[in-house]
Parts: sequence; structure tokens; C-alpha cells
Amino acid sequence: MSVAARKFLFGTALFLGAGTAVGWVYGQAMNGLLVAVLLTLIWQIRQLLSFERAVRTDNFDDFRHGEGIWEQIVARFRFERSRAIRRKGDYRRLLKEIRKSTDAMPDGAVILDANNEIVLCNRAAKTLAGLKRKKDRGQRIDNILRDPLISQLLGDSNFDQTVEFPSPVAEGRWLHGRVVPYGAEQKLLMLRDITERRQLNKMRRDFAANASHELRSPLTVISGYLDSLADDEEMPATWETPVRQMQAQSHRMQRIVTDLLELSRLESAGTATSAAIDMVRLLERIRSDYESPANEARIILNLQSAVELLGVESEIESVVVNLLSNAMRYTPREGEVTITWVSSPDGADLSVSDTGDGIDAELIPRLTERFFRVDRGRSRDDGGVGLGLAIVKHVLARHDALLRITSEPGAGSEFCCHFPPERVVVAPPLTLS
Ligand code: ADP
Repeated sequence: MSVAARKFLFGTALFLGAGTAVGWVYGQAMNGLLVAVLLTLIWQIRQLLSFERAVRTDNFDDFRHGEGIWEQIVARFRFERSRAIRRKGDYRRLLKEIRKSTDAMPDGAVILDANNEIVLCNRAAKTLAGLKRKKDRGQRIDNILRDPLISQLLGDSNFDQTVEFPSPVAEGRWLHGRVVPYGAEQKLLMLRDITERRQLNKMRRDFAANASHELRSPLTVISGYLDSLADDEEMPATWETPVRQMQAQSHRMQRIVTDLLELSRLESAGTATSAAIDMVRLLERIRSDYESPANEARIILNLQSAVELLGVESEIESVVVNLLSNAMRYTPREGEVTITWVSSPDGADLSVSDTGDGIDAELIPRLTERFFRVDRGRSRDDGGVGLGLAIVKHVLARHDALLRITSEPGAGSEFCCHFPPERVVVAPPLTLS
């Protein structure tokens, strides 16, 4: 207990005792005490009311607090109030700094609450997406950015999805959107201008497509002449090896050009159209076309489902052929290559597994890059060009499917293509009449 509190209690007790003593002198001790209690109460109520007025009007000049406990209360109140004012100023300055730094960011940042309503946004969000800091506060972001991809992005609870969509304010510009969880139930929508990156990508695509297109005709001519030369029985023996090598290399170049053109076509095509593919028939046909000679690994067809797949048959065929020819190329003849077709309520899986060389774990993420080959020298000898898995990846993306690669060096690999349920057609059960 503070000294002032102790003094206050002592003073009050003294006053009540004095009242009782005066009453006792007149033979009315209880009444004396009662009068003293009443006087104390009236005085404290008066002090309380004038303190309330002083706080309300922020003027303590008329408040007579004396030197007792009320002086302490007033001093503490003034101290706390000036501290609160100081802190408020600090917070305001801090908030200003934070706002200034978020405004300096080239990326748009929008804080959203649990209902996807805008809490705050920075200046870049205004220039990139047209959001207005004051006017749009409290509005649902998907009512302002109306691209369906945004709603999809906001609905993704894993926060690992990103989307690219045209800017609603600047024609021809593209934005990249990403949501990160933030605070309690809040989200931060990050927006980035990716117009330049898209333009560069388009230039790269166009260049690859144009160069491949331009190379195709001269290569056909060169290959044609080399084929005729190779078949010419009058060709001098010294020319035979160089001509055969030139022929092999020109065929390889033709394959690269064809694969690059196919990649360009896949990159600029949207989602694949939907025709039901009889996977059982397709896989059986590919299996019989590939009837392995004695010096190659055994192929096993594991058909666990008869469901059909919605997609482009020639593209799905190229996926299977690419995966199968890789598996055969990297599996010794004592090994096995298994093609599996299986379905579940989660969709369908097409996988090609082998008991071959396998791939180092750190190289797996790079396999679908263009021209990436684990062992360049060996792949070149095998006729590999490093575009097969890039084509597989693009075909699968067009079919809303994902490629999952698992492998263990020396034990084998599995390339599994997972198709979502929307791509799977379950045939109706046969009805007996
Ligand atoms: P390539 O034409 O060289 O086969 P791909 O894009 O099809 O090109 O494959 C890229 C690389 O991935 C290959 O060079 C090879 O090193 C590796 N690879 C692909 N499939 C397999 C497999 N089944 N087993 C081992 N390595 C593989």
C-alpha cells in the first residue's frame, strides 16, 4: 500500500473517530459516527464528480485535490494520459513508415479478411489492378477483380496455386497473382506485373517455332539426297561411313525440328478438346506395335480399369510412346517395363515403370526441361534429344493432368500421369434385355 493510501485510510479513520468522540460527549456516539460517515461520503462524491468533469473537459485547474490520495490519482492519470498520447504518435509514425515502404514496393499487396473483403492495399495495387484504397475498403476483392481465376485462387486453401490474368486497368498487361496466409484468418494477395516475362516467353516460343519451321524444308532436301546417296550402290567405299553418319545426323536434326514444332504447337494450344479415348484398346495397340525383340526388356501390360479418358488420342499416344521408348532405352534386356492403367474416385493413373538405370533424386525436377539429358553422351548415342519429357509435360498440362516421377538409381523409375476425375469416363453398366 502506498504512503498516500495509508494516509488516506488513517485520515478517514481519524475523522470518523473524532465524529464518534464528539457524539459521545453529547451522549450520541452512534449519531456522531453516522454524521462523520455521511460527511466523508458527501466529500468523496463531490471529489469524484469534479474529477469526472476535469477528465471530461480535460481541465484540472478547478479540481482541488489537496495533497492526499486525489493528488496521487490525478498525477497517475496525467502520466498515463501523456504516455498514451506519446505512444499513439509513435504508432502513427510507424504506420506511416510501413505505408510508405509498402507504397514503394513495385508489387501490389492487398490485405484481405476471412470473407475476402479488402482491409488495406498499397499504391501498386492501384496502378496494377485499379484498387482504390478508401473507396474499395470493405468490398469483396472478387467483385472488383472479376477474373474467374481470382475466385479459384481465393478458394484454394493450400495457398500453393498461382494465377496469371490480364490486368483489369491496363490493356495488354498481364498480372501474376498469389495468396499467402497472413495473421489470424487474413490473407495477403500479391500482384506482380509479368507482361515483360510473357513477352519474352512469346518471343522465345515464336523464335523456336519460326527457326524450326525454316529449318524443316532445307533439312528434308538434305536428308532426301543423303538417303539417295546412302542407297546408291555405285558410291565409293570411302564415302560410305561419312554419308551414313551424315544421314543419321540429318535424321536426328529432323526429329529435333519435329519435336520443337510439336512443343510450340502444344504451348500455344489451350485445353485439349474432349473425345473419349478407349485406353484399353490404345494401350494394347501400342503394346503390340512395340512387340519387343529378344534383345530388349519385357513389356507387361497391367490394365486394371476399363474407364475411358477425355482428351486427344494422338497426344495421349505420344505420351505413352515417349515414356515407353525411354523406359526401353534405359532398361537392360533382363529387365521389365510395365504399363499400368488404373482408376479410382480421385481420377485415373497411367504409369510406365521400369527396372532400369533409375535417375538421381536431385535431377528428377529437371527432367522435363527442354534438351535436358542425364547422360548427354549416352542419350545422343541412343538417339535421344531431350525433348520427349518436355512434350509429355505439355500434353499432360493440356489434359489437366500431372506427371509424378519416382526413381531410384539402379532400381528403376516410374513415370505416373494422374488425370483428374473430370477427365475420366466410366462406361455405364451393361443392361441385359
Ligand atoms: P531423351 O530424348 O534424351 O530420352 P527425354 O526428355 O525423353 O529425352 O528424357 C530426358 C532424360 O531423362 C533422358 O536423357 C534420360 O537421361 C532421362 N530418362 C528419361 N526416362 C528415363 C527412364 N525411364 N530411366 C532413366 N532415365 C530416364
